[in-house]
Amino acid sequence: MSHQLSPVDREVQSRARRFVDEELIPWEVHAEMHDGEIPPDVREKHEHLARELGLTAINQPKELGGHGYTTRQQVLIMEQAGRVTNALGWLVSTPPSWLPAVATSYQMERWVLPTIAGEKHEAYAITEENAGSDVSALAATARREGDEYVLNGVKWHVTSANLADYLFFQGVLTEGSRAGEHGFFFVDIDTPGIRHVRTPAYTHTYAHHHWEIAFEDVRVPAANLVGQEGDGMSFAREWFRFERLMIAARCCGAAERLIEEMTAFAEARQIGVKKLADHQAIEFMLADSVTELWGARLMTYRTADEVDQGADVKLLHAHASMAKLTASEMANRVADRAVQIFGGRGYMRENVAERFWRELRVDRIWEGASEVQRAIIADQLRKRGTGIVR
Ligand SMILES: Cc1cc2nc3c(=O)[nH]c(=O)nc-3n(C[C@H](O)[C@H](O)[C@H](O)COP(=O)(O)OP(=O)(O)OC[C@H]3O[C@@H](n4cnc5c(N)ncnc54)[C@H](O)[C@@H]3O)c2cc1C
Repeated sequence: MSHQLSPVDREVQSRARRFVDEELIPWEVHAEMHDGEIPPDVREKHEHLARELGLTAINQPKELGGHGYTTRQQVLIMEQAGRVTNALGWLVSTPPSWLPAVATSYQMERWVLPTIAGEKHEAYAITEENAGSDVSALAATARREGDEYVLNGVKWHVTSANLADYLFFQGVLTEGSRAGEHGFFFVDIDTPGIRHVRTPAYTHTYAHHHWEIAFEDVRVPAANLVGQEGDGMSFAREWFRFERLMIAARCCGAAERLIEEMTAFAEARQIGVKKLADHQAIEFMLADSVTELWGARLMTYRTADEVDQGADVKLLHAHASMAKLTASEMANRVADRAVQIFGGRGYMRENVAERFWRELRVDRIWEGASEVQRAIIADQLRKRGTGIVR
């Protein structure tokens, strides 16, 4: 009971856990052996169940078709989604929570509400060959022409583009008083001028692909601009804060699953006259793993509570970075130990440790690499002192 969860929190947590354990985890190995895919009827059943169980659009308010979960509850659900490999947990969806506050009624009807209802799916086209960590280095452009914007540029790593109905495009405005700043746009994926360049292969085995996409004189109505011209970077920051916390949650879930699996294996595996778990070298790996998980989880839950309590946004930015940094690096260490404890089995793709060992690596890179998180944290420390951790 160390995390002071209310009865409602516990119910939400166990509902998500049952779904992951009973429905998703049994399909992991199949997905791994079939390019991340599971049979369409199973996928549909999962989607239906996730909706029925209130595990989609988990960050949206009830009045828009969400569930009104607290941030702590969102984290509890996302942790469970993190316990399954091969992105099968990604049907726990989180449409941008900042969007309803800035979207026009046209945008709400056309994109936002259908996304919350699970009828449309989005993908983010922000990163470019020379603009990843440094989003301000974007070269893609948005040129205003009458009632339209003309979008140009090449975007990399556009996750879930193969499943998306529309893209969020971020580019540099070339005209007007905000020229040089960023605009953020809804772009339907079938808009003329959008060209799928290639589907690179990545370390993990997911049904969600990460396309490279060229925007070649893509014309969108001015009504597709999100918020005002120049707002692009502030949306990116808001998204980062949320998603970094959710990555921290998923990493805690992954680490918990790994610890359960490697402890069970170490208890069952007999080496000579001893169980593997009776060797101190192995005990230490288990002890370090569970201790580090507890630390990361405390930070993650505490940051979620601060969001719910309306803490200062700069503090939240630092704490979300600390939680993401701690949890992602912790989960990578745990996965490495799990492979070691499983031995040769741990190097087989049918083993959960092997899959997480590959899959968790990206959590130290996307939504701000560990070095970027450290830069954010150091900046806050230098500006605000050690008060940021009191
Ligand atoms: C699987 C996957 C999915 C992705 N999905 C999306 C998506 O859907 N949409 C999207 O727009 N982008 C997506 N990305 C892009 C992702 O956000 C970037 O890869 C990430 O921000 C890092 O940018 P980069 O790859 O250009 O690395 P770079 O910016 O080139 O950085 C390379 C490395 O340099 C180091 N580094 C960077 N900055 C600093 C610094 N200030 N100080 C010290 N060291 C530093 C870090 O170690 C970093 O990993 C995805 C990436 C991957 C791998």
